[in-house]
Amino acid sequence: MGQFSGKSALVTGSGAGIGRAAALEFARQGAKVMVSDVNVEGGEETVKMIREAGGHAAFFRADVSEAEDVAALISATAAEFGRIDCAVNNAGIEGKIVPFADQPEANYDAIMAVNAKGTFLCLQAEIRHMLETGGGAIVNLSSVAGLIGFPGLSPYVASKHAVVGMTKNAALEYGKAGIRVNAVCPGGIDTRMLDSLADQASAGAQSSSQMMDPLHPLGRIGTPQEVANLIVWLCSPQASFMLGAIVPVDGGFVAQ
Ligand code: NAD
Repeated sequence: MGQFSGKSALVTGSGAGIGRAAALEFARQGAKVMVSDVNVEGGEETVKMIREAGGHAAFFRADVSEAEDVAALISATAAEFGRIDCAVNNAGIEGKIVPFADQPEANYDAIMAVNAKGTFLCLQAEIRHMLETGGGAIVNLSSVAGLIGFPGLSPYVASKHAVVGMTKNAALEYGKAGIRVNAVCPGGIDTRMLDSLADQASAGAQSSSQMMDPLHPLGRIGTPQEVANLIVWLCSPQASFMLGAIVPVDGGFVAQ
């Protein structure tokens, strides 16, 4: 049982990190969860974790940057659970830290394809589905990098600002149809992605915690669970008046 009992949730990029934590939290609160990722092993591990905890989950491999994959994912989720009540567009990549003038075009294309176009394709497909089923709630993963700049990360920053823009537009266009679209903006969160960025920035000399803890006014980076709590709350009935909100969950990072 739980407040999502009888509901279903789709989480992209839920084979690891924040997406996995969100999938587990939805399941804990009673939702049936479609776990999706390009990483089959990671996705199947998340499903196993949910089932071992007594929850209900299935896995579908999809690359969010491919329209055909996204269409197949939405069809498979609707077929598996009857409908999609909640969707979390979480799949994302960070790319390389390079000064703006030296950014390879390929780095820009790769990051925009997953973070911006992937969110666009998923949002479109989820909205089309929810228009047919009578509504739902969608959360997009932006970042503090969707609110402010980070030297060396221009394609990532651009992609996360794009997610903020798409969130606002989708919210304005479909709020009256009962589809609530919001975005979360995590600060440094203890996942593979943050480890990769810390490794690149310090050439392996510092862990993500050593490098990033002091940058957060709370004195530490966050956990995937702390982001999952916000994501799942935004999809819940308690958040019924939240629409087009861009919500930091960042230990005070953007308050500085
Ligand atoms: P992660 O690398 O641990 O997990 C990302 C998951 O997305 C992986 O399982 C990966 O296989 C999957 N993925 C990558 N490309 C994909 C694609 N094309 N299609 C489907 N799945 C794909 O990263 P994370 O830290 O858990 O990040 C999750 C989201 O949160 C991302 O959008 C990221 O930009 C955002 N975010 C993370 C942080 C942080 O500090 N970790 C901060 C702000 C925002």
